[in-house]
Amino acid sequence: MTKKALIFDLDDTIYPIKPFADEMFATLFDLLKSQLSDEVYQQVKEDVLTTPFHRVADRYKFNKELKEEGMKLSLKMTYNGPIKAFEDYQIAKDLAIEKFLVTAGYTDFQKSKIKLLGIKKDFKEIFIPDPAKSDLSKKDVFLQILQKYHFLPGEVLVIGDNPEAEIVDARELGIETYLYDYQGKYSPALANYYGSNYANLPEILN
Ligand SMILES: [Mg+2]
Repeated sequence: MTKKALIFDLDDTIYPIKPFADEMFATLFDLLKSQLSDEVYQQVKEDVLTTPFHRVADRYKFNKELKEEGMKLSLKMTYNGPIKAFEDYQIAKDLAIEKFLVTAGYTDFQKSKIKLLGIKKDFKEIFIPDPAKSDLSKKDVFLQILQKYHFLPGEVLVIGDNPEAEIVDARELGIETYLYDYQGKYSPALANYYGSNYANLPEILN
């Protein structure tokens, strides 16, 4: 079915987290480093890049003080440092098709990155389901988009880097998926379409 809209994830889909993580999470990393053993700290450091802090805190059974302090930092955290979109994002951006951004995370932090990347104008609407504010999932938001803009599931393509997040959420609604895997971590079989670079996206939509 001809696609009428693309729904993008943000982190690791429009820009890579890793090169900017130390600066992005500096205050939180300082706190965690001072409170955790080096071994646990190294694991936690990886997890907070992709998982909301309060879930990481529960996963590693942080004490109440550390969880509260980390939560306070996470909620007010914004980013003003260097950040750069993937070079091939330009290919996706140039496509003459309606685009939406759905990025889960703490609102202020996600907003600061969107602003720095200068991508607000690339999207018809931006949604930030915030785990500190509601239980709204990406699946709920995808459904809202289908209803609000009168798209059939087959008319939309969800693009993201996480097979267990946006990719599975989209699939549950019958929406086709494109797994953007710039690090070559996953099997292409996990999504309808797969790329380590957006070069193949235009032909998929043709
Ligand atoms: Mg992501």
